[in-house]
Amino acid sequence: MLVISSRFLYNYCIMEKKYFIVTYGCQMNVHESEKLSGMLREMGYIGAKDEADADLVVFNTCCVRENAENHAYGNIGNMKKLKKEKPDMIVAVCGCMTQQISSAEKLRESFPYVDIVLGTFNMDRFKDLLKEKLESKKAVFEVLDKNGGITEGVKPFRSSFPNAWVNIMYGCNNFCSYCVVPYVRGRERSRKTDNVYSEVSDLVKQGYKEITLLGQNVNSYGNDLKDGTNFASLLNKLSDIDGKYRLRFISSHPKDLTEDVVRAIAANEHVCHAIHLPVQSGSDRILKLMNRHYTREEYLDKIKFIKSVIPDCAVTTDIIVGFPTETEEDFQDTVSLIKQADFAGAFTFVYSPREGTKAAAMEGQISDEVKKDRIMRLVEFQNNLNRGESKNYNGKTVEILCEDFDEKKETYTGRDEYGRMAYFPYKTNIIGKFVNVKITAEGGISLMGEVVGVID
Ligand code: SAH
Ligand code: SF4
Repeated sequence: MLVISSRFLYNYCIMEKKYFIVTYGCQMNVHESEKLSGMLREMGYIGAKDEADADLVVFNTCCVRENAENHAYGNIGNMKKLKKEKPDMIVAVCGCMTQQISSAEKLRESFPYVDIVLGTFNMDRFKDLLKEKLESKKAVFEVLDKNGGITEGVKPFRSSFPNAWVNIMYGCNNFCSYCVVPYVRGRERSRKTDNVYSEVSDLVKQGYKEITLLGQNVNSYGNDLKDGTNFASLLNKLSDIDGKYRLRFISSHPKDLTEDVVRAIAANEHVCHAIHLPVQSGSDRILKLMNRHYTREEYLDKIKFIKSVIPDCAVTTDIIVGFPTETEEDFQDTVSLIKQADFAGAFTFVYSPREGTKAAAMEGQISDEVKKDRIMRLVEFQNNLNRGESKNYNGKTVEILCEDFDEKKETYTGRDEYGRMAYFPYKTNIIGKFVNVKITAEGGISLMGEVVGVID
């Protein structure tokens, strides 16, 4: 019986086509790749272990910063050799990068072995375009010059248990002067609260333990629905989904973070006391040039308010160094803001000019040398702050959601509610369980400890 079923499986497998998706950029893109995976599995594709093992390779690209884009071009270029060895292999490129007409054209002209190109606005059409390619054998290009829609009904093939991502909205209306997102993701479109609610509650029923609500600026959720719905009302509505799970969200624009949202976070027991609140710069002059619509003072006041309502709230941020005309004094303003804001973590980026954005056309672009020097000083400074904070954990017992097993360190890994990473050994598989971990040592910005109790 066993022999028959394994032979059947073998025959079945060689008929299956295999796919491999390479994803660049943020969680938003990772989740979009899960949706592409879902579509491909519905068509009968199965996962390949790498590009060489695949019949279809998809590059889901990002163009928010230059290095993500360069990285993607490099890897797509590597397909040329593979395509010679396997001429029937299909190479598809989608995502933010291809939504830019100039990049789609570059792919068409300089990468003739790319079979399918589509942008973000028509990601839902991936299946149709693939069928078109399989039938016609001709290259298929479809990059739309109109706003995208809202994806409903695509079943993602989730790859990050116990974590799950849920889009609450798409696009952005803010036009920060350095940022390409509004151009490649279109205007804000919010999903209906009921659809978000049923997706989150299904995930909780399926056993997912950490759900992250995704939007370029979650604080403007609902503005386009024009029925009084907003992010605070969404969080309030989600609060009646029972179970032991965490809710997170990214990202929050400081100008739109209202007192109601902060109160809704405090009132919903599932929402982590952690807010990612990108500040970008500590200099009022640069913030104005960035079109961020808040001052340093207003930003710090928001943090004060957050901490007055949620004293243990961990605030993390994004910072850009080397924005056009940034002086050493502006940079020092950023450093001093970091000291004042007491961030739990920061993602630091070197400014890269993005085609079509206002900042790319500004006078006073900063040299690579100065940018590099500033980012190195900033990272070192922030790491020292983080290391200091890790020491406060020593000897404490913290609740961690076990998320993965680290093969190299041979320990389980997970994060606390504030997002701090911890490593801990255990005798059985506890991925997906909340555990109490006693912290015995800190290693830079992460923690090490031992499990003293498995909760759920
Ligand atoms: N919508 C999110 C962020 C999207 S992009 C938000 O507003 O928070 C993520 C981060 O990339 C931004 O916060 C910013 O710090 C950085 N970024 C965006 N464009 C950039 C550019 N041209 N150069 C360097 N960093 C950039
Ligand atoms: Fe880009 Fe600003 Fe929109 Fe964030 S809020 S996606 S940084 S334009």
